[in-house]
Formats: sequence, structure tokens, C-alpha cells
Amino acid sequence: MPLGIYISIPFCKSKCSYCNFSTGVVSRAMYSRYVDHVCTDIAAADQTAASMGGRFERQVDSIYLGGGTPTILEPADLERMFRALRDKFEVDHDAEITVECAPGTLTPEMLTAFLRCGVNRVSLGVQSWVDTEAAAVGRLHTRAKVLEDISQLRKSDIKNINVDLIAGLPHQTAESWEYSVSETLASGVPHVSVYMLEVDGDSRLGRELMAGGQKYHAHFVPEDDLSADFYIAACDRLEQAGVHQYEISNFAREGSESRHNLKYWERKPYFGFGVDAHSMLLAAPNASRQGGDAVAVRFAGADELNPFLQNAPLVRTAVCRREALEESFFLGLRLTRGVCLQELGQEFGQSGIENLTNVIEELVEDGLLQRHDQRLCLTMAGRMLSNEVFQRFLTVEAQ
Ligand code: SF4
Repeated sequence: MPLGIYISIPFCKSKCSYCNFSTGVVSRAMYSRYVDHVCTDIAAADQTAASMGGRFERQVDSIYLGGGTPTILEPADLERMFRALRDKFEVDHDAEITVECAPGTLTPEMLTAFLRCGVNRVSLGVQSWVDTEAAAVGRLHTRAKVLEDISQLRKSDIKNINVDLIAGLPHQTAESWEYSVSETLASGVPHVSVYMLEVDGDSRLGRELMAGGQKYHAHFVPEDDLSADFYIAACDRLEQAGVHQYEISNFAREGSESRHNLKYWERKPYFGFGVDAHSMLLAAPNASRQGGDAVAVRFAGADELNPFLQNAPLVRTAVCRREALEESFFLGLRLTRGVCLQELGQEFGQSGIENLTNVIEELVEDGLLQRHDQRLCLTMAGRMLSNEVFQRFLTVEAQ
């Protein structure tokens, strides 16, 4: 089964107030050193897979550079990473190759590098088309810049473009949200991701919200119910415009679903490189010696820059058959099409599914899941409370 490759670039020009990723603002001198390290890790990928008990696949059908802001690297560094990838892996001629891009960082030199590297998909971190909303959370771009970037990408024949939006930003209103969704549709991009603002202690805005303070425009963050209304309104609006929801946060015109992201929810193998990059490989035939009845292995690198550069050891988790079933539920239910109980029964055995009958019936009764014959999927209420639904599956599996 072909692999997906993920490379994390944990650098940004400035830190957005809501950001809870392992990214930071560092001196440009660090970029090249980091890329050296990633290239070394790519060259050792087969040895890493073997030491983790995972099956190494040479064939690759998707590559995703995320972060962070990959487009703040020197174009030559970007090309170096792609050379390292193509030296180690066989990249399909029609592989989906995505780079995340903060609007305003797309220089002509970077666009040339994209074409030389075979990049054919770009994900733009727009978040809001209202300049004052974007500025309030520390984004450095304007609506005009976003339009310019989309135009430049299309001129370079990169038409597969995603726009990220966040529901629940400070100062957002029903009208301004409607404007952002409308502008996204008017731009004609084939893929849209809609996230709800995450409130946790890992971002400056999240901490301020939890403390009830006013820094970072925290007192202008819409109430949770209003943000939920924004999300539901976006689902309706995008659907009406032919941009179908295929996952809790992802929407696409037919045929433009992200091949790479689907791998995560369909439990297909992927190999990650860089800070906080995660990997999931099918277990190698000899993996039982390393982790019981493992059917897959997950491993992750250091989630901070310095330990990563100092070769901190990878953290490995063997995934047994029971855990793989559990993952199939909470990852597969993220998809609009949900999961097929018959297929899961064939893959993992009928008794595992039967253990879940009660919890499935309860969730259907609570209006969080809907069942059509063998297919199970989240309702809209279930999408809003997805973590609670997934937790109920985990609780049963732990018993
Ligand atoms: S650009 Fe993205 S990764 Fe960088 S700080 Fe902003 S939200 Fe975080």
C-alpha cells in the first residue's frame, strides 16, 4: 500500500494568538540546519521503519508539507527536501503534493520551486477574509493578498487550492462569517477546511479566554453557541454551492478531496519527518517480536525544536487488533460516509463489533449517530460533540 509522507516545518514569521501548534519564530539561520536534519532522517527512513517494527514502503502517492509555514524556507531548501524524498522513495507521477502556505509568503522564486518539486496542491491559511479579524489574531495578510496568491497559483497551473477558515475568531459576527464563507466560494477554490477556534492552554488566546481576560481580543470571541451556529451555517452554505462535506472539518468539490488527509481517517500508512511529526506504518512481519499482536505501529518525533535537533528518541506505540478497531471507529466516524459495520466485522472479527452494540444503540437514541443498515455515521449534533462520541467508544473498548 503506497505511503503518504508528511514533513513538518515548525517556523513562522510571527505567532498567531490562537495557535497551539509546536511552531515558533526563530532566526533564518536555523532553517537550513533544520532542513539538513530532515534530509538525514529521510535518508534513514528504511532503518527507522525497521527499528520501529514497521513495514517500509518505497512507493508514495501523497506528500504534505505542513507546519508552521513551509513557504518561509529558502526555495533551495524546499528543493533539497524534495530531492531527498525522491532519492529515497518512488513518488507516483500523479502523487498529490501539497504545501501549506501563509498568504503573502508566496514569492515568484517559491512558485518556481513548487513547479520544480512537482507541487500540485496548496493550502492557504486564510482563516478570515475580513482584514480586521485576521489582524486581531496576528495574521499578516489581507484579503487582497489572498486573492493575489490564488491568482498567481492559477497562473502557475496550480488549481488545486484549499482555503482554511476558523469559526469563532475575535470580532466575528454572523454577517462577517457569512462574508468569509461567501468570499471563499467566490474565489472558486475546490477545497475548504472549516475549524472551530480551539480554546486550550496551548495558545495565548486560549489561556486568556480560560482566565476570562481581555488580552488578544479575548473578550471579543463569540460565545460557543454562536461559533457552533457559524459552523452549521458554513456546512449548509458550502453544501448548497456543491462543496460537499466529506469530513468533520473538510469540504470539497467532487474529486478534490485531499488524498493525503483521507489516509489519516482511513488508517492508511504514512511516514512523518520533522518536529512533532507522527507516523503510522503497518506492522512488519516480524513485529510480533517487538509488540505482541501488533497490526500497526505509530511513532512520533520530539515535539520541540531543540530535542529534535539533538536526536531525541522516537516514541513508539504498537497498535494491537483491538486498538485498531477502536481507531477505525473514532477516525472513520469523522468521515461523512461513516463506517461500515460489516466491513469492520470482516476485518476485525464479528465479536469486536458485537461488544459495541449497546453503545451504538445508545448513541443512536441520543441523536448523535445515525444508522442506515450496516453504515454508521455522525448526525450534525454528533459532529458538534464528536469528542464525546469517540470517548464513548474508547470507554467500552477499555472495559
Ligand atoms: S501561521 Fe499557522 S502555524 Fe504559524 S503561528 Fe499562525 S496558526 Fe500557527
